Amino acid sequence: MFFFDPLYLLFALPALLLGLYAQIKVQSAMGRYSRVPAGTSGAQAARTLLDANTLYDVQIEESHGFLSDHYDPVKRVLRLSPQVARGNSVASVGVAAHEAGHALQHATGYWPLQIRTGMVPVVQFGSWLGPLIFLLGWLVSGFEPKLGTSLAWAGVLAFAGVAAFAIVTLPVELDASRRAKTMLQRYFMIDQRGMAGVNAVLDAAALTYVAAAVQAIFTLLYYVFLLSGFSRRRR
Ligand SMILES: [Zn+2]
Repeated sequence: MFFFDPLYLLFALPALLLGLYAQIKVQSAMGRYSRVPAGTSGAQAARTLLDANTLYDVQIEESHGFLSDHYDPVKRVLRLSPQVARGNSVASVGVAAHEAGHALQHATGYWPLQIRTGMVPVVQFGSWLGPLIFLLGWLVSGFEPKLGTSLAWAGVLAFAGVAAFAIVTLPVELDASRRAKTMLQRYFMIDQRGMAGVNAVLDAAALTYVAAAVQAIFTLLYYVFLLSGFSRRRR
């Protein structure tokens, strides 16, 4: 019944629009600064930054897919998409430096990253189990109101976990970008003009994480709103 709830749109729309805007900004910044040469490939830049921080044992691998770049804290591997790894551009170097920033966070025991890594299994379950438990609770509440409501609250708790994860992700991502910008300037890897491109790319990427956090919070609020509605129904 609440699958096609027009009310959901009201909750989801602000985050949806922000997310769309962020995507457009990322695409345009990547498109524009992928054509500005940096004098080094993303993979080379990442290697230089890792070595400069004595992270010789962190490997760099190529991943598949556009913007699939990430740092794997379990295997201690930096995975760069082909565009970033091989691309000799300001955009590629910016993204690669950001991922090196995550490796540095890991090496220095930056605690928000530790919390985020610890929350990954919670979120993997919560994001698909949450709606299921909630739906089950809603169905059960028709004939067993108390149990149904408790179940639905358990579903909401799973959504809260997903929202908390999205919120913890924010400082982790912003800090990785801050480290990237600082390092690129400190080691004179990018000139002033190039830095404007790095800033544009990384700031647009940061906005996508803000949008994701807003979306998670509004989704949580929506389910709390629904739940308070069907709690009222049984009174
Ligand atoms: Zn990141």
